[in-house]
Amino acid sequence: MKIELHQISVRELCASYQDLSIQEEGITGYGGRLNIRPKYQREFVYDEKKRNAVMDTVWQGFPLNVMYWVRVGNKEQGAKNKDSNESLLFRQSGLCSNSVSGQIEYELLDGQQRTISICSFIAGEYMMLFDGNLLGFNNMTEEQQNRILDYRLQVYICEGTDEEKLRWFQTINIAGEKLTDQEIRNAIYSGSWVTQAKRRFSKSGCVAYKIGSDFMSGSPIRQDYFETALRWIVDYKKNKEQGAKNKDSNESLLFQQSGLCSNSDSGQYTIEQYMAQHQHDTDADELWQYFQDVIHWTEKLFGRRYKKEMKGVQWGLLYNQYRDTPLTATAIGEEVARLMRDSDVQRKSGIFHYIFDHDIRHLGIRAFDDNTKREVYERQGGVCPICGKHFEIELMEADHVTPWVEGGRTVADNCQMLCRDCNRRKSSK
Ligand SMILES: [Zn+2]
Repeated sequence: MKIELHQISVRELCASYQDLSIQEEGITGYGGRLNIRPKYQREFVYDEKKRNAVMDTVWQGFPLNVMYWVRVGNKEQGAKNKDSNESLLFRQSGLCSNSVSGQIEYELLDGQQRTISICSFIAGEYMMLFDGNLLGFNNMTEEQQNRILDYRLQVYICEGTDEEKLRWFQTINIAGEKLTDQEIRNAIYSGSWVTQAKRRFSKSGCVAYKIGSDFMSGSPIRQDYFETALRWIVDYKKNKEQGAKNKDSNESLLFQQSGLCSNSDSGQYTIEQYMAQHQHDTDADELWQYFQDVIHWTEKLFGRRYKKEMKGVQWGLLYNQYRDTPLTATAIGEEVARLMRDSDVQRKSGIFHYIFDHDIRHLGIRAFDDNTKREVYERQGGVCPICGKHFEIELMEADHVTPWVEGGRTVADNCQMLCRDCNRRKSSK
């Protein structure tokens, strides 16, 4: 892994700056060699105040935070920029004369908003106050212009294998707006597959949002949908691979039952591996098809009635495990409705998992409060009803006489105070 700190002047950065984002062609600078808004980047826009603060910092000659570029070599994006026109303003600077063909060599990983703030000022896109005077770049004297153009930015340029870059980006604490893990992965594994996948998962109002927003939390722009879909499909593949392995193995039944195989080697399969395998695919149909399957399965079983409780449930993981379980909406509808009404069920979002495995830990069953415990303790005279010994209240635990699953409520009448040993023995039965 090679990481070098470079000083790059505003003059160099803004050379042949092009904002073709309206034509969806992206934004380039540094003589056409830097992709300022690679496809994996967020499309936030700085507000005027932040934008002006950046230019003011440059004007005053104060340091801006370090920026990060990734060396990408001459990838396919380069071809796109071949025909773009050189900026007239900087032709005379001579700095970009060797890169008229505009091959992309770098992608901007961090510092996009600051870079655009600077470049668009130089391109004459806005005016602001400098020492009390409202000026655009073209209103400035040559001396003033040079003061800005000669400002030097600190840029880390890094180069290495995908794994190295990923590890490094996860380690550094990027100043300013921090990239999410998924944004970093998109940077590392950028290519045709990420571009296609992002169309569906990463734009506001994207198709994944349209079909999934009742079931998903987070925001497409912050890559939450993309990351969640990836996490699910990785788990799906892991399970499938495991299933195939078990079929071929004589020990399969034994291990399947004991659940011991879940930690075996295929447990290492990760989002990074999936992305690396698909990096150069021309479409992301597999992920998209899988995601649709999960959403359709969820909707068919549970509908869209309990939107608030359904948001953020790990639907893909449930799908991966229970898609072949023969349940129907009519069969489980009444049970779901009953649990939704049950005030002892405090974690309503856990109902959907509970439906499949009936493990009450998903439900967050209400515990007895301190007043009830004291009341019952006094009623029992501090004696454990099972072993008949006396204990201090701090050494006793509240227990449902009739368990919740058998219809017992979390009320004083259904509460008994047991010593710890007796309570443990009872609950392990
Ligand atoms: Zn006891």
